[in-house]
Amino acid sequence: MAKRDYYEILGIAKGASDDEIKKAYRKLAIKYHPDKNPDDKQAEEKFKEAAEAYEVLSNADKRQRYNQFGHAGVNGGASGGGYGQGGMNMDDIFSQFGDIFGGAFGGGFGGRSGGGRRVNRGSNLRVKVRLNLHEIAHGVEKKIKVNKYVACKTCSGSGAKSGQYDTCKVCHGTGVHTRVQQTILGAMQTQTTCSACAGEGRIIKDKCNTCHGDGIVRDEEVISINIPAGVAEGMQLSMQGKGNAAPRGGINGDLLIAIEEEEHAELKREGNHLIYSLSISFPNAALGTQVEIPTVDNKVKIKIDPGTQAGKVLRLKGKGLPDVNGYGRGDLLVEISVYTPTNLSSEEKKIIEQLKTSKNFEPNPNRKEKGFFDRMKEYFE
Ligand SMILES: [Zn+2]
Ligand SMILES: [Zn+2]
Repeated sequence: MAKRDYYEILGIAKGASDDEIKKAYRKLAIKYHPDKNPDDKQAEEKFKEAAEAYEVLSNADKRQRYNQFGHAGVNGGASGGGYGQGGMNMDDIFSQFGDIFGGAFGGGFGGRSGGGRRVNRGSNLRVKVRLNLHEIAHGVEKKIKVNKYVACKTCSGSGAKSGQYDTCKVCHGTGVHTRVQQTILGAMQTQTTCSACAGEGRIIKDKCNTCHGDGIVRDEEVISINIPAGVAEGMQLSMQGKGNAAPRGGINGDLLIAIEEEEHAELKREGNHLIYSLSISFPNAALGTQVEIPTVDNKVKIKIDPGTQAGKVLRLKGKGLPDVNGYGRGDLLVEISVYTPTNLSSEEKKIIEQLKTSKNFEPNPNRKEKGFFDRMKEYFE
């Protein structure tokens, strides 16, 4: 299913300020909050959709990538199986509420069960993936080995030997200290994190011997990454939940994949177009010929018409790279230059001397060849 535009979801303009984004999201989050719409699947979808849009647009880095590459820039695109499918989960959304609603809104929107209880979050993991032009043209599945924090198998990530916790006696399991102040606007509630339990609201009864209570250990994992066709150097994809595991059963961080591009020996990339520089001999330019040129996949034969001028660009439609968002394909542009011989025998020189006298060898003053950039312009607009 095609994803809706994030700006459209929040009902804001592309140039909206951070404040406008926050306001728009706050409005939707209240409207579609599950507490207000029990057992309403549609409201839940809208709630999740808005949270995902906010998650991207509220982050300057993600927003810029989204503006540039669309959904593919932030979650791997249509063919990227496994990327953020189904959007964010509810725990992610509630953990994001703290900075939206602030302490003043109190427990109501803080989280689901434990009031302001803190949910641990694993850190993001960054990897680089180097791709050749063929892989970029078709998309590719890459298996990479990463060293990261994973849930401890001994205690199933709980950090506790028996899997059991005591409720924190200081904050009574809420993870926060709540203070109510009387102000001219009425009662204002402020909250601070409980220092006894670091906001988790619980304390481990008996620490696991393997992870010493962290619930996580370092390990190697092979992750398979589906890279959509059409990606480019400098793009970053993200796989939700594939980063470091969080201490004691929190939310996993994301895996961020930076794309690096290997240079092709013969084809140059310009956006989704490819450029090949073809040099032909003077006799071939004058008489016409057939030549073989490389494409991403194989070699193809193209026809050079008699009387071809140096600087002519032949366009092989659709032989470029696919657009990462699925909007068509680029072309392969063949730029022709004519080789002027530099080591002529005296016999060859004599033949050319004879040709010099022919009027047909004089450049036509009425024929104005466009410059290289003028010719290329139409393709790169
Ligand atoms: Zn506590
Ligand atoms: Zn453990």
